[in-house]
Amino acid sequence: MIDSSLKDIAAALRAKTVSAVELATDSLARIEAGNPKVNAFITVDREGALAAAQAADARLAAGSAAPLTGIPMAHKDVFCTEGVLTTCGSKMLSNFTSPYDAHVVSLLKAAGAVMVGKTNMDEFAMGSSNENSHFGPTRNPWNTDTVPGGSSGGSAAAVAARLVPIATGTDTGGSIRQPASLCGITGIKPTYGTVSRYGMIAYASSLDQGGAFGYSAEDCALLLSAMAGHDPRDSTSLERAAEDYTSALDKPLAGLRVGLPKEFFAEGMSDDVRAAVDAAIAEYRKLGASIVEVSLPNARLAIPAYYVIAPAEASSNLSRFDGVRYGHRAAEYTDLMDMYCKSRAQGFGAEVKRRILMGTYVLSHGYYDAYYIKAQKLRRLIANDFQAAFAQCDLIAGPVSPTVAFGIGEKSDDPVQMYLSDIYTIAVNLAGLPALSHPAGFGAGGLPVGLQLIGNYFGEARLLGAAHQFQRATDWHTRKPAGF
Ligand code: GLN
Repeated sequence: MIDSSLKDIAAALRAKTVSAVELATDSLARIEAGNPKVNAFITVDREGALAAAQAADARLAAGSAAPLTGIPMAHKDVFCTEGVLTTCGSKMLSNFTSPYDAHVVSLLKAAGAVMVGKTNMDEFAMGSSNENSHFGPTRNPWNTDTVPGGSSGGSAAAVAARLVPIATGTDTGGSIRQPASLCGITGIKPTYGTVSRYGMIAYASSLDQGGAFGYSAEDCALLLSAMAGHDPRDSTSLERAAEDYTSALDKPLAGLRVGLPKEFFAEGMSDDVRAAVDAAIAEYRKLGASIVEVSLPNARLAIPAYYVIAPAEASSNLSRFDGVRYGHRAAEYTDLMDMYCKSRAQGFGAEVKRRILMGTYVLSHGYYDAYYIKAQKLRRLIANDFQAAFAQCDLIAGPVSPTVAFGIGEKSDDPVQMYLSDIYTIAVNLAGLPALSHPAGFGAGGLPVGLQLIGNYFGEARLLGAAHQFQRATDWHTRKPAGF
């Protein structure tokens, strides 16, 4: 049942052909069998899951269930969970049990979803392969010698391996879309400000945005509807009325204008990814969409701009990890300064240190104007390009990742190659736009390829609707990796 659609699981719960406790038990058994192969979970909360499942069964019996009541799910370990270890993939927080729930966690608890555990991730969400986790790399269920993508690779692998039907993630530069693409599932990052960042451990606050993973666009729409909404505890949370993201699922594609940015199709994509992306676009055309060429002339500047802005914000956000207020403290030190230095030197991994150094540098006197201010100007140009493109189309389609999943260890010694994995996803975060990845076929080695759909602000329902129409006509999203 765990590998069925949320609609079918919810119907079975209501028909009493399965109970929430049975579903939680099944998910926990799948994790026990499958997790040693993929390392998708940092923490499994068996007791908490069974208690939540019992409460869900009571609610189902009382007739007061919400759409997600009784559905097993997992949270990326970037979300604070009261009483449950919250590590953010770091040694720094390897002993941190949160005293409170993130807003997203409280909303899903209130909806009756059953959290079975916390998923592996790149340390502080910095990475594109999950190899930066203090808890060891997550492996891609389609080929365990390859990466699942990052930084939400644990959530993506857990869903792809059918350990849970849905999971949360966060996307600062591609961390939902890229792992969704590499693992053959659907993942959406909404408009910046849609999902509260309260209790979501900060990496780059002006870019970080929570979102949803599932087997299909329909399942993502149900999860996102339960996660989104205004939260006064996040000053960048949008004051908009709650939205039902399933509302446009049945809208036909006729009349939809899909823009293809010529810069995305010029070079860089491997041939196998290109073939799958082209075939998916042909399917959209067949379903009634019209295809127009658009241009994002400044998109090539997204990676350099991002690798100034994101580290700058990270260097500030991560200053709170000082060995006093949270997390790891060095066992031996001579004075206060030595305690800070040793605790941070021991608690952070290499990539996090690299970003703190870069960020501190670009914010320092004399370099602030040359790098930070310049990057902010590029950010505006990139956002303007999207607005010009959306004058000609309703949504933009393109690749998610230039290649299928790469081998574990293949790029881990070369940070710049790793940064280039996000070449098609990062501009979206700089502009604050919504975007999703849905399965579009398979490439080299039989590994999944995703198609990216980018919408204008608040275009989530339309994006999910388009992907749903595609998924009604195709079966890529129903394919499962062997052995799970
Ligand atoms: N790979 C990008 C980075 O390392 C994006 C990560 C993310 O979206 N959290 O920063």
